[in-house]
Amino acid sequence: MAGKRMLVIDDEVEIGNFIKVVGERSGYDVSVVTDFAAFREALAAGEPALIVSDLMMPQTDGIELLKFLAKSECRAPILIVSGVDTRLRNTALRFGKANGLRMLGTLEKPLRVNDILAVLAALEAEGPSLDENGLRAAIDNHNLVLHYQPKIELASGRVVGAEALVRWPIPSGGLFAPMEFIPLAEKTKLIRPLTDSVLRQAIRACAEWSRAGHQLSAAINLSPAILDDPDLPDEIARLAAAEGLPSGRLLLEVTESGAMADPVRVMEILARLRLKGFDLAIDDFGTGFSSLVALARMPFSEIKIDKSFVLEMRESKEAEVIVRSVVDLGRNLGMKAVAEGVEDAAVLARLAELGCDYAQGYLIGRPMPREQFLDWLGSYRPESLASSA
Ligand code: C2E
Ligand code: MG
Ligand code: MG
Repeated sequence: MAGKRMLVIDDEVEIGNFIKVVGERSGYDVSVVTDFAAFREALAAGEPALIVSDLMMPQTDGIELLKFLAKSECRAPILIVSGVDTRLRNTALRFGKANGLRMLGTLEKPLRVNDILAVLAALEAEGPSLDENGLRAAIDNHNLVLHYQPKIELASGRVVGAEALVRWPIPSGGLFAPMEFIPLAEKTKLIRPLTDSVLRQAIRACAEWSRAGHQLSAAINLSPAILDDPDLPDEIARLAAAEGLPSGRLLLEVTESGAMADPVRVMEILARLRLKGFDLAIDDFGTGFSSLVALARMPFSEIKIDKSFVLEMRESKEAEVIVRSVVDLGRNLGMKAVAEGVEDAAVLARLAELGCDYAQGYLIGRPMPREQFLDWLGSYRPESLASSA
């Protein structure tokens, strides 16, 4: 488990060491520094989970330190410990907040063990924070989980696969949705370790379905941010081989906007993935304004019609025309068409009439945790869908 780092700056060595003892007892990996230069150096090694700062130090005062942290866009929570009077401590607190820092509060010296423990407990109770540190810890500690949403073949009603959708559960019982943390992962380079974790879990789950007698494919979403990594195709092939999974059982999804933003760069990786036998889907199709020429040149095996059109098919003639056109386009380009966002039995029936190949949506099954998905597979009957139509 990656240790939570605490960085303490105090020119009084005994105080630094006192906080270190208390922090370590609460599971922190504590670094204590006595001057600003060492503080900057420690911070450059990575943002800690908590910063504890004195206010009065010989070379740098606490306000200068807070200014520096604000300028470096520090997101770590900050606790002030100082012997100055309450009013001055509160001024420093307000200054930090006004500069966008995450100020936890202040403690008066001499410090008491229980006061420090109370601050650490309150921080813990907040649960993980939706920031780079929180996400890195969630990935390192294997806290991210996948939910699986079934995909059926429209002609037969049979389940052909499931899409893996990542979730970040939090101690309160809730979870962060991918739309909340995937953009953060893309911005901070955490997207590659996140994707590795998703790939490992999804491949393991797919092998488990096989052992339970269900020959399904697993669909995994790939962020365009990792599509310039030349090692990616080999890495996925290695992970699949390690579980004895044939590459044809994995379907990799790339959003239309991601694939078309830089088609030349993305083409190389996509072509190599296909050559290794993986299937490829263009996700959220219809939202990215791609040209038909670009689509025809990309090696996709499936087109996923964006759920915004599928959800509106009943009310909007225009949405239906778009769905029908994409199904035809897919057929003419030799790609299977998948409708996502099927919530309604009449829409399911209409999609079958239009010749759409596959469907996914709440009507068929919501994204479910691993064990629940296996139970669902065991109890699924295609007739139940037909009778609801
Ligand atoms: P997506 O790949 O297009 O996934 C479909 C989204 O639609 C999922 O949202 C799913 O829960 C939702 N959905 C499925 N059926 C229905 C329905 O009938 N009605 C409605 N209203 N919604 C439905 P979710 O799980 O919140 O994921 C959102 C997006 O986050 C995904 O869109 C995908 O782009 C991204 N994502 C999810 N997991 C990963 C991942 O492991 N890696 C990457 N890079 N992106 C991911
Ligand atoms: Mg998808
Ligand atoms: Mg989609």
